Amino acid sequence: MQITHIPTPSHEEVLRVTDTATGLVGFIAIHSTALGPAAGGLRMKPYASEEAALTDALRLSHGMTFKNAAAGLPLGGGKAVILGDPACDKTETMLAAFAGAIAALKGRYWTAEDMGMSPEDMAVIARGTEFVAGLADGPFASGDPSPITARGIFNAIRCTARHRFGSASLSGRKVAVQGLGHVGWDLAAQLHAAGAALIVADIDPARCDAAASRFGAAIAPVDRILGVEADILAPCAIGGILNAETIPALKVAAVAGGANNQLATPADGDALHRRGILYAPDYVANAGGIVNVATEILRIRDRAGFVKEKLAEAEASLDAILTRAALRGVSPHKLADEIVLTRMQRRPAA
Ligand code: NAD
Repeated sequence: MQITHIPTPSHEEVLRVTDTATGLVGFIAIHSTALGPAAGGLRMKPYASEEAALTDALRLSHGMTFKNAAAGLPLGGGKAVILGDPACDKTETMLAAFAGAIAALKGRYWTAEDMGMSPEDMAVIARGTEFVAGLADGPFASGDPSPITARGIFNAIRCTARHRFGSASLSGRKVAVQGLGHVGWDLAAQLHAAGAALIVADIDPARCDAAASRFGAAIAPVDRILGVEADILAPCAIGGILNAETIPALKVAAVAGGANNQLATPADGDALHRRGILYAPDYVANAGGIVNVATEILRIRDRAGFVKEKLAEAEASLDAILTRAALRGVSPHKLADEIVLTRMQRRPAA
């Protein structure tokens, strides 16, 4: 296994990791360890090029810094990517080689499950390094973070509704949910239980049909969900969906959901604000997942207590962001970024 350091001004440390014997080509990007060891998942994808994989690692690790700081966790931001199709290129020897690179960082980077990875893969990596979370077994194993993520998003939607409509009650509110996967399905169940009327879309028609029969949800075509009339849009599928093309077509009063990197660019946050659409910053709303993973990294004994406390903190933090953004007349995403940057400047001395 070979490690090459790639000087990157925006990041603390970026490694290119290769292993000829196993066909491994990947990157580990450490954006910041200002608040603690960098934490963020390992993604495997058939990237079009090494450049595309590196760009993804740089972007995602930057996002993790913000997410971890916003959640008040003593963790920095990092992310790892491996090039290849997880269905046919992934092997145990390849993951073992990658574990060697994580081990060489001696705890500056903690990995976890992300797209293309499973708890079984994390167990393979754990044979080569202790700096891995998302394990299915073990004294601090945190399991599937999705239900906690969905709980946090539900809280964020209630909080956003209170700011936008004057009441946190979701009874009778129309909520459009894009994506009914691990997070979106759980969220839809909670919204339904709270009396919301759902409009859903997923590229998998079976999930839509299931939501229609379980929650009485109306189904929108995948290419129409961002234009449906509703009170709140909850993006729970892919990133970049709030952009110059979609924002003018939105017919909602607020956006609060779980997908990472919902804004295609920061300017899109301003565009939402100009349209009077209240936006709950994604990394504040969806912090439940990393909070759950953090219990494993930080070796928290009272996991349930920690998660409960952190979810309450996240909701209070969103409440403060929305209040201050309204007072200043700026977009909430700007306020959230400012708070994170201030936290990082106030970091304890190393
Ligand atoms: P998932 O893969 O389980 O579900 C995604 C769902 O979206 C799938 O059902 C898929 O069919 C659907 N989908 C994909 N493209 C779509 C499209 N264009 N239109 C409609 N539906 C589409 O993923 P997940 O774990 O539920 O995560 C959803 C989002 O939340 C992702 O952006 C993820 O990064 C983010 N997130 C997840 C967690 C977590 O704990 N799982 C934590 C934080 C953030």
